[in-house]
Amino acid sequence: SIMRGCNNFCHYCIVPYTRGRERSRDVESILNEVLDLKQKGYKEVTLLGQNVNSYGKNLENPISFAKLLTMVEEVEGIERIRFMTSHPKDLSDELIEVMKNSKKICRHLHLPLQSGSSRILKLMNRKYDKEQYLELAAKLRREIPDLSLTTDIIVGFPGETEEDFEDTMDVVRKVQYDSAFTFIYSKRTGTPAATKEDQVSPEVVKDRFDRLLHVVQEIGSQKAGALQGTVQKVLIEEINAQDEHLVTGRLSNNSVVHVPGGADLIGKIVNVSLDECKGFYYLGTLAEGR
Ligand code: SF4
Repeated sequence: SIMRGCNNFCHYCIVPYTRGRERSRDVESILNEVLDLKQKGYKEVTLLGQNVNSYGKNLENPISFAKLLTMVEEVEGIERIRFMTSHPKDLSDELIEVMKNSKKICRHLHLPLQSGSSRILKLMNRKYDKEQYLELAAKLRREIPDLSLTTDIIVGFPGETEEDFEDTMDVVRKVQYDSAFTFIYSKRTGTPAATKEDQVSPEVVKDRFDRLLHVVQEIGSQKAGALQGTVQKVLIEEINAQDEHLVTGRLSNNSVVHVPGGADLIGKIVNVSLDECKGFYYLGTLAEGR
């Protein structure tokens, strides 16, 4: 964790009430922890926070999240860096530039949309609209073409009309997410949205949820096979839970790969030929020259 709490008060979310205001950890203590992990043999770190893009703003000596990433990148022995979660309103050009030029920051960005309707986004207090989100996603795709983009979407926020929902479907089709976590809106006592009277009926929400899921899965499966037939670097993480003759690892873009091999590969980054895409994972073999 590089920070705790949140200052955003999205109208459906309880986090700012339960975890308090945003507090960033000192750069020094984060770097010491990364160094310690490296000494223990870790190759990958994930920097966590409710809104990592506003990291460092309230420190005594303010620093940007992008700058923190460049400092973590300098730790030799750490070969992969991931982070989450990014709030679209705070994702800076500086961060895009740092990601683009980095050899270690993974090609995956989780960018919660929540709704594609500008009207609902305003009611949610998200502080961006449909056009701004689409512009940001297009910029990311343009600057970092091999980036995998994933998201969170809430269906059935109070007052959501069919037209609002169609805006969400429109963003999903335009952004072409690699995958998306879809949620049915549920009331959190104590949040502004919980007291709203125009809650959407469960039947309507269920119908929209199913339609959204269908489109998300269709796009996800079309995109999943894009790297089939190529050789990619894979960090091997564990013995496969179903088959002990296989080990499981991840690509930089977070896709899962299963490869024949043993425990000696765990913790290593190896070249893998991605022979076959099986929907949401690949089957591969170790490539020459690993
Ligand atoms: Fe903060 Fe995320 Fe909750 Fe919004 S949804 S208030 S950004 S934790």
